[in-house]
Formats: sequence, structure tokens, C-alpha cells
Amino acid sequence: MRSSQLFSPTRKEDPADAEVASHQLLIRAGYIRMVSRGIYTFLPLGWRSVRKIEQIVREEMDRAGAQEIRMPGVQPAELWQESGRWEKYGVELLRFHDRKGGEFALGPTHEEVVTDLVRHDITSYKQLPVTLYQMQTKFRDEARPRFGLMRGREFIMKDAYSFDLSVEGALKSYDMMYEAYTRIFDRMGFNWRAVEADTGNIGGDRSHEFQVLAETGEDRIVSCPSCGYAANVEKAEITLDVTERAADAVFSDVEEIATPGAKTIDEITSFLGVGPEALIKTLIFVADGEPLAVLVRGDYEVNEVKVKALLADLEGFGAGVKVLELADDALVGKLTKAPVGFAGPVGLSIPIVADLSVQPMVDAIVGANKKDAHLKGVNHGRDFQVARFADVRMAQSGDRCGRCEDGILEEMRGIEVGHVFYLGTTYSEAMGATLQDETGQLKPMEMGCYGIGITRILAAAVEQGHDDDGMILPTPIAPFEVVVLPLQQRKEAVAEAGESIYSALKAAGIDALLDDRDARAGHKFKDADLMGIPLRVAIGARGLEEGHVELKARAGGEVELISVDDIVAHVTALVEAAR
Ligand code: ATP
Ligand code: MG
Repeated sequence: MRSSQLFSPTRKEDPADAEVASHQLLIRAGYIRMVSRGIYTFLPLGWRSVRKIEQIVREEMDRAGAQEIRMPGVQPAELWQESGRWEKYGVELLRFHDRKGGEFALGPTHEEVVTDLVRHDITSYKQLPVTLYQMQTKFRDEARPRFGLMRGREFIMKDAYSFDLSVEGALKSYDMMYEAYTRIFDRMGFNWRAVEADTGNIGGDRSHEFQVLAETGEDRIVSCPSCGYAANVEKAEITLDVTERAADAVFSDVEEIATPGAKTIDEITSFLGVGPEALIKTLIFVADGEPLAVLVRGDYEVNEVKVKALLADLEGFGAGVKVLELADDALVGKLTKAPVGFAGPVGLSIPIVADLSVQPMVDAIVGANKKDAHLKGVNHGRDFQVARFADVRMAQSGDRCGRCEDGILEEMRGIEVGHVFYLGTTYSEAMGATLQDETGQLKPMEMGCYGIGITRILAAAVEQGHDDDGMILPTPIAPFEVVVLPLQQRKEAVAEAGESIYSALKAAGIDALLDDRDARAGHKFKDADLMGIPLRVAIGARGLEEGHVELKARAGGEVELISVDDIVAHVTALVEAAR
């Protein structure tokens, strides 16, 4: 490809809403353009990368024995009603009617469609195991689409589904996909971790997320340097050092203190000159319409997954809490009679559950349920009643590992690029995907589902590889493997050398870009850096007279002078090693 023909409109300015490097750079370098919130067009550079990502994933899926199919983006409501998710999925599912009044949705995932396929067309256990996958455009009406390709509403996913008749078989299929994912993310050159993940209430009990480590990641993960255990903080097991309140603890009187404008834990601690462990945080949640307060020590975060699990046996809630969410500002105002930021447990008339970290606290500081005020000297049992103390907090850096009990967990942030999930029989039972086993007994199929965020991977690659000048993409997923820059396009010898090196690279099977534009050298260097092409061959008039060209890796290192005669073989060897 020649730059003079390439449609790659670059921009000097960052888009106004772009907070992270990948979003800024993918727009500036002309990889993507936004069409609507969370909905993008891929320009030639972006699409070349996406296709390379897809190809790596496809090769590894095929190697693992999975078979590619293609399901529709538009899905009939009936299938979702059968699985029960038409009700449960909520507003992320974009629903609409066709001209005859039939109800449909844009597929956010494809368990229903694939289970429907299999229940009709797999009629004997001898056809199992089978794993089917597709590359497909998904639509999820995300509450907060942001960070460009990282959290879109329309995005490309590779989704795979495995079908077995036994649990052992299903776990074997799971392991095959786990292995394939390991190869995929290694091939892409990521610094990544597989972490144990929450399985929610979908059933099944094995799930791993594949996280690319990056400061800007939306997921928090912890890992144990001693035993290697790694998990999403939502799921992470910790060894709790549970302590009771000292029997002889002396309580002060409750006293109101003025805290004008101090709402966050940081603001309050700096205002009062105390550490966050002296405070109790009060969060108001709504569980299927019923409000409750959750308390946690000021230096911890509430884990909603644990709260949801706890509610299963808490009076007034019941086993099947479907939706647990933070109360909106209006409800917080109504229940606490104060603006958000001043909620506290004293005088609240809704059920209160508290994390174990609150149990030993004496004379805590809490919100006063009154604007610009907090209470100090507050003690549970005397000043407010807790319905249940339980572990409802998120694991964090410094916690003791729940597996080996010795290691101290370290926290990092990750971008979830893949997810493998053993589903069990949830869908097959609901939708009647059953088969007779060897003994003639009718059984629901054992399923697994396995997703990879194809377009999110491009964002993750930029998050892990960029500097002030632009992207630094790994060779396997960069839109081109090398860019050839004739620095003085108008000088015939330079232009000719560019042409001949470019065609020789192409003949050697290298994906090369020739910047044949009549532009200043500085401009060409700038664009090459911005685009993140891994290798750059610069051809200058003087060097050419001396018989050499300049080679530089985008990732760093010095400019190397390579003889004109050797450059093609040299670049070919480097690219082949990096693929
Ligand atoms: P998240 O927790 O980030 O919302 P998820 O758990 O909803 O993701 P899955 O249903 O497991 O995601 O989907 C499989 C993969 O699809 C994810 O691992 C992720 O890489 C990708 N993905 C999910 N949602 C989005 C999105 N809104 N934009 C881009 N990629 C996404
Ligand atoms: Mg997930």
C-alpha cells in the first residue's frame, strides 16, 4: 500500500471526550471515527489491525478444534423468552419490532441462538463434543460507553460455545479454550494475566478472565506473589483477620461535627485530620426495589457480588435478588434526608448490613444524615443496629491471600480482553437441548461459553504500547509491518530506491507501506510514529550515495545504518521473528 492512496485522515487535536491514550491515538492516527456514542467506523488502518487480530484468534480457535459459523445479529424475542433472559437482561438489550409487530433484539451475546441450533441439529451423543465459534458484531446498550473501542456499544466479539454430555467433557473443552486463549494473547505480545472471575448466578462454577495489565483498565485484579493465585477483586478470596470489639471498650458520647462540603472519604479525612480507618462508609443500595444500607470501613470498598450473595439468606430479601444497584441521588435524599455524601447508619430506618471490618470499630465517624455534618463517637449496638455482619468487601492490595494464607496480595488494573466460562446446563435445560447418553438416559448438554473482545484488543494494545509520539503496536496486529520512507520524494534516486525496497519487501511477503507522498521528512516521520508501525526504513539522498538506509524500531533503540543491498533480507528476518 502507498500512503498517497491510503485513506488515513490524521488529526492534530484529541477528541474532546477522549480520556485515555488509545481513544485519542486511534482517532488522531485515522484508525477509527465515531458515528454515534460507542459506535465507530473502522478506517483502513484500524480495519487492517482488526482483521489481523481476528486472524490470530481464528487460527488458534481452529487449532483447538473449534469450528467457525456465523449467526445473525438480529435475534427473535422468543428464544430469549425461552431462556428467561428477555426479562432479566435489562436495558442493555436493544429491543425493537419488525413490520409485522414481531419482537426482536440486537444480539449482545449468542447463547440462545447457538443452543437453538444445537438442540435441533445435534441428535446423537456421538456428534459431541463440539465447539462452535464466530466473529460477530455485538450490540450492548452500555450505560457508560467510553474510552473509544474499550467500551463501545457496537463492538466485535469472537464468541465460542462448547457442547458436551458430561461435566468432565465440558471441563476438557474449557481447558482447550483456556490454552487457546493463552496462545492468542502471547502471540499478540501482551503483558497479561488469567484471573479467576465471578460466575454470578448463571450457574457453572469455573470462570477466568484474561486481563491485559494497564493503568487505564476498568477492572481491578489482585495476585499473590507467593502462590500465583490471581483473581478479579470481585471474586478474590482473602484470609480475613476477624476481630471482635474489645470487651472493655469505652464509648464516647455521640457528637455532631460540622464538615461543610466534605463528602468523600478523602475530603473528610483531610478535613478532620484522621485516617480513613476511623470512618464508616455508608452506601445505600436497592435490591429488587427494596432499599438497604451497607457499611464498610472507610479504607475499603463494598463488593456488590458478596452483598448479593449475602441477601440470599437475609430476612426480607430472599434467594433470587436479580438486580442490586446503588440507590440514585433522589432515593438517597429521601431515605437519609440529606444530600449524597452525608449518609450514615444512625436513625436510618432500612435494614443495615455491615462488613466484618466494622465489627471491632469503637467511636467511629459516620455521616450525620444531614447536610454538611458528620457524627463522631458512634458505636454499633448502642447507636444503630446491624442486621448482619459479614464479609462484603472487595479484596485489595495488602490483604492476605485466601489460597496460601501467607502471601500478601498485590493489586493491579486490567482490561478484560477475554472471558472463558463453564456454564453447565442453565441454557440447555431452559431450552430443552437434551440428548440420550450411551445408556439411553436423557440429559441436558453441558455448555461453556468463551468470548474475546476483538475490537477491545486494539484499544488494549495501544494502552500497553504508546508514547508521546503515538502508538507502538506489536508486529502481529499492526496494520503494516514496516513503513518505507523516501525522505526526498522529488529526488529521483531516493524515490526509486523507495520503490525498489518496497516491492522487494512485498515480494518477500512483508506487509509494507510506502510513504510516497511529496511531504517533508519531518511530516513523514511524525505520521509513521503516530501510526505505530513497528519498523521504519528511512531513505535519504546522502545515505543512499554512501550505500545505506536508516532502520529504526518504533519501540525504541538506535537508528541503524544498513546497506541498501542487505535491507530487505534484514527487515524480512526481523519481521518474521516478530510475527
Ligand atoms: P465487561 O465486564 O467489560 O462489561 P462482560 O463481562 O460484559 O465485559 P463478556 O460478556 O464476558 O463481557 O464478553 C466477552 C468479551 O467481550 C469481554 O471479555 C470483552 O473483551 C468484550 N466486551 C464486552 N463488552 C464490551 C464492550 N462494551 N465494548 C468492547 N468489548 C466488550
Ligand atoms: Mg466478562
